[in-house]
Amino acid sequence: MKKTSSGLSTCVHAGEIKDALGSPHTPTYTTTTFKFDSTSDLLDVVEGRKQGSLYTRYGLNPTIFSLEEKLAALEGAEAAWAFSSGMAALSALFLAHGRKGIICIGDAYGGTMELLSSQLPELGIPTYFLLGSELDGLKKFIEIGAGLVFFETPSNPTLEVLDIQKISGTAHESGVLVAIDNTFASPVNQNPLALGADFVVHSATKYLGGHSDITAGALMGSRHLLAPVWVWRKNLGTMVAPEVASLLARSIRTLPVRVERQNATAQLVAETMAQHPKVEQVYYPGLQDFEGHTIARSQMKGFGGMLTLDLRGNQADAIQVMDRFKLFAIAPSLGGVESLATMPVTTTHHGLPLDELMRRGISETMIRLSIGLEDAQDLIADLEQALG
Ligand SMILES: *Cc1c(COP(=O)(O)O)cnc(C)c1O
Repeated sequence: MKKTSSGLSTCVHAGEIKDALGSPHTPTYTTTTFKFDSTSDLLDVVEGRKQGSLYTRYGLNPTIFSLEEKLAALEGAEAAWAFSSGMAALSALFLAHGRKGIICIGDAYGGTMELLSSQLPELGIPTYFLLGSELDGLKKFIEIGAGLVFFETPSNPTLEVLDIQKISGTAHESGVLVAIDNTFASPVNQNPLALGADFVVHSATKYLGGHSDITAGALMGSRHLLAPVWVWRKNLGTMVAPEVASLLARSIRTLPVRVERQNATAQLVAETMAQHPKVEQVYYPGLQDFEGHTIARSQMKGFGGMLTLDLRGNQADAIQVMDRFKLFAIAPSLGGVESLATMPVTTTHHGLPLDELMRRGISETMIRLSIGLEDAQDLIADLEQALG
């Protein structure tokens, strides 16, 4: 495997195509098709003898090639595919590699959960779920015959940290592949491939895009394992548009600068909120006494910009706090330059029965924060005035 790098130089320079006119970055090829000088030239590309541009939905477009090279470099991967959304990346991955069965560990994004718990089983694909605290049961599920283990770490909304190296080791003993949704951490803070995972998925809509203005997704891994996913992307038609690919590449050039600041601000907010009398508990991997802190220290380079506060009082009190925010916006999503606040029970986990919420350690008084690029002191002041 190539050396993992999420460094500044990689983000600025990886994959850039500099044209004859002196453009410092890859131009946007807003074309759907590409012409050839001869039929034999066309056949070279169609039959795979030459890599070249052909048709944008296939991903054979220079702007997309350029983005994919950057995406691969972010995770130290051999290859990457770009998609129209994070869900598009997950769907194509599950259809290509999960047909024998998928084991999902811990909490997962709402759309992923719906796909795994109802849509894929409708196609006859078996799916299994176990909590992060039930890892002893992993072997049993693997023996049933699943082909893919999937999880998020840190997860939504309790920031549960799962041991990538250990779980990958267990799965690989039985020849089972491992896929990690690395959206919450971002490639700046965590590189699952270097820890033994086979696939990394990103909702590029979040940190990679970083400005809450584009929807896109990414899948990274070895060339060999990514090959069968390509056909699914091609025929499901879930390619990223060149215009979006170009915006995403632009965003990635500033990714480490954004994420490093978000890490620092989140740490400060978490430490300050942990002292607040109205706050029962702060869920943040960077806090020394947080359950997942030790594993987080060993597998993450930074602790991320996401944290969850569990407030004292009841749900109505928490809603009041939400409604008093002036700087934090009430919105789902995450990873942008603007700070957002959301209550899991009103958005990502809306409608889940109380016993299931309790089983997953999610309370009605939780507020999840996505820390943006505002001044840390302004965010803390907003939290303090909202908590009253
Ligand atoms: C948002 C999100 C997704 C889905 O991404 P889209 O780009 O909205 O399709 C998947 N996983 C996680 C962890 C997310 O936060």
